[in-house]
Amino acid sequence: MASDLASQLALKNGGKILLAVMDGVGDLPIPEFGGLTPLEKAKTPNMDSLAAGGALGQQFPVGRGITPGSGPGHLALFGYDPVKYLVGRGALAALGIGFQLKHGDLAARINFCTLGEDGVILDRRAGRISTDLCTELVEELKAVSVPGVEVFVEPVKEHRACVVFRGAGLSEHLHDTDPGLVGEKPLPVTATDSDARSAVKIVGEFIDRSMGILKDKSPANGLLLRGFALHEDLPTMQSRYKLNPAAVALYPMYRGVASLAGMEQFQSDPADLTGEVRAANAALKAGKDFVFLHHKYTDSSGEDGDHERKVREIEKFDAAVPELVKCGFDVICITGDHSTPCPMKLHSWHPVPVLIHGGPQRTGWNKRFTEREAASGALGTFKGSELMPLLLAAAGRLAKFGA
Ligand code: ZN
Repeated sequence: MASDLASQLALKNGGKILLAVMDGVGDLPIPEFGGLTPLEKAKTPNMDSLAAGGALGQQFPVGRGITPGSGPGHLALFGYDPVKYLVGRGALAALGIGFQLKHGDLAARINFCTLGEDGVILDRRAGRISTDLCTELVEELKAVSVPGVEVFVEPVKEHRACVVFRGAGLSEHLHDTDPGLVGEKPLPVTATDSDARSAVKIVGEFIDRSMGILKDKSPANGLLLRGFALHEDLPTMQSRYKLNPAAVALYPMYRGVASLAGMEQFQSDPADLTGEVRAANAALKAGKDFVFLHHKYTDSSGEDGDHERKVREIEKFDAAVPELVKCGFDVICITGDHSTPCPMKLHSWHPVPVLIHGGPQRTGWNKRFTEREAASGALGTFKGSELMPLLLAAAGRLAKFGA
């Protein structure tokens, strides 16, 4: 693996790196734009000037044909092979609300549901109850204790919450209790492996006691558990790359993934791009040599299929670029964690354009930062987890391999 070799060759000193992620930036031709993508349609003079003075390429976050979630997409950008370092759905849900997972914690997603008198599921989402009601129910479930472990229940959004078990005897080898269908009863928690016997008891007890509390409520009188995930600490970017990394992100999920990689959080004030740029600058001044900055709204507009808004979000990011450049990073990289094409309204497997500015590069090949230009860029096409070695090399942070 290129990134493992990079960790052996990483040097303690070198240039300072900015990794700016426009979430879901990659797209497809938009008929209303005469076949241009949102990146091509947008006016992006600042990114274009970085493109001309830097080098472009494109990356497959996980691999060709694979559609990544934002968690794996970001892990790849941070240099982790997302197939080797799996972060389960339950763990992502907990990270997503800013819960500090510890090594060995077992996390699962909760869905509040509506059960009929005969115990069958009438609505797997309890009519999408409000987040306020979810929070109230969770407050009551916080009273649930299970001998031998600590239990944490936290609201997420609408009918969704999450539960974390901490202690001995845990395993993620458990089947979901959500049958995925209405008209059936919630499944009892069962093991997928013999090592999960005590986990079955622990989780089963939590479910029984929670059901007892919920049984007379309406419409959320039951719960379903999914995505059991045992959390394991990742080797940090400090230990792998001798970096002192920081993260600037407005949404807890991205802060969570960044903290898995060992990044220190810098608060964005105000909570917008202006604040994010300020926080990136503060991180640099505080001695950080790697800053990850996350821009969410390119993804949200793609998921809404709103190509006009995606153009505006790209232009908004471009307008922040001059201030980012002024911070004084030696290497600036702009890319995405996956594509979210507006015509699909979903994440997709299409490669994501990459721009690297700084360090010795084959400059002058490109005039703009777009999918089309990135596909013919000097960096070529590579895997997302190979981006970190390219950034470290650009920053003069990788020693030669062999004599
Ligand atoms: Zn994403």
